[in-house]
Amino acid sequence: MDAECVFCSIISGRLPSARVHESDNFVVIKDINPVAPVHLLVIPKRHVESVLSVSEDFPAGEFFDVVKRVAEQEGLRRGFRLVVNTGIEAQQSVPHMHAHILGGRSFTWPPG
Ligand code: 5GP
Ligand code: ZN
Repeated sequence: MDAECVFCSIISGRLPSARVHESDNFVVIKDINPVAPVHLLVIPKRHVESVLSVSEDFPAGEFFDVVKRVAEQEGLRRGFRLVVNTGIEAQQSVPHMHAHILGGRSFTWPPG
């Protein structure tokens, strides 16, 4: 828990959010500034700055279970994009690792 971190504050309930799912180690919230009809953030409860600081005991199996469960819950049968912006060049803006689930429209590849 990092007292300065916006996602730690959301996880602890000090800041409000629209939660769509919670598991032992993750919360899933609606992004405050959605860029797709479905735009969710899968956030580990434990503060980890980015993928670059994820350790071996990261609950990766639970992470993918949560992604699959939420995608099903949100009706994303035709697919979705799962994005983990990491570091400066990827424009990660919140230094608490999280995955975006983007769905409900078509996307182009490569991304901008
Ligand atoms: P990043 O750029 O780090 O990959 O993504 C951070 C995301 O967090 C952005 O899409 C931004 O809209 C979202 N975000 C930032 N602050 C808040 C907040 O206080 N509440 C919610 N629900 N989303 C936030
Ligand atoms: Zn944090």
